Amino acid sequence: DLILHNGEFIREEDLVISKEDRGYQFGDGIYEVIRVYDGNLFTAKEHIDRFYESADKIKIVIPYPKDVFHKMMYDFVELNMIDNGQVYVQVTRGAAERQHQFPTQANPVITGNTKSVERPVGSLESGVTAKFIEDIRWLRCDIKSLNLLGNVLAKQEAYEEGYFEAILHRGETVTEGCSSNMYGIKNGILYTHPANNLILNGITRRVILELCEELEIPVEETPFTKAQALEMDEFIMSSTTTEVMPVVAIGDKKIGQGVPGELTRKLQAAFEARIGVGVKS
Ligand code: PLP
Repeated sequence: DLILHNGEFIREEDLVISKEDRGYQFGDGIYEVIRVYDGNLFTAKEHIDRFYESADKIKIVIPYPKDVFHKMMYDFVELNMIDNGQVYVQVTRGAAERQHQFPTQANPVITGNTKSVERPVGSLESGVTAKFIEDIRWLRCDIKSLNLLGNVLAKQEAYEEGYFEAILHRGETVTEGCSSNMYGIKNGILYTHPANNLILNGITRRVILELCEELEIPVEETPFTKAQALEMDEFIMSSTTTEVMPVVAIGDKKIGQGVPGELTRKLQAAFEARIGVGVKS
């Protein structure tokens, strides 16, 4: 498979990245992951818009118009003949002698790769477990930053203890997962943290909120606490790769009956209908 480097598709062994790349030294950059179903990029426009927005929020200018970038992503997937998989793409502020302030001269460095990935059908069917971990990240979680230490440390702790994901909380308030958004369903209402600076506004989250509207499931974009999370009838996490993933236990506490609930199943079915048809966007 070829990889992407500044608008060109090259062999991985031909990639040269400076040791002074600010992505490498500071995590000074942003990224996106776009899902591919049947050769089509799912919600590509939304991901590309967020890529440009994240870059803009840290004052990196992507040196292509969006439509050129969009086509680049499609060419990439076609070139590597990805049917079901994903595209990872990142941009850093570029290479310059190490100093914290922005260099006066540096060109953004864009790299990316594709890979084939199957849908996590087993986990989608049975659900996964998660544990609470304090959210120690910075206050601009709306930016899809390459700086992921807070996420990495929490995921490692969850992983070591056999959990699929961490449910991050600031004090008593549940924010999101390490690489996912979190939702609780109680008495037919879906609750999720509002899309502010404390979470990444997931593209899957946006799809789920649209599906709730279609299915007439009322939504409250309002924070809930750890204690409330444990009392939810159903619990869900979502991301580009995990889709609408049931969380059937938090720590050793079962959620509801400890199996995926009715509204979770409805949302999963509606999500599958979305990815199955008209996925070109
Ligand atoms: N929250 C965080 C911190 C993430 O890293 C991600 C994705 O990796 C998400 C939420 C889910 O976003 P999306 O649905 O766009 O994949």
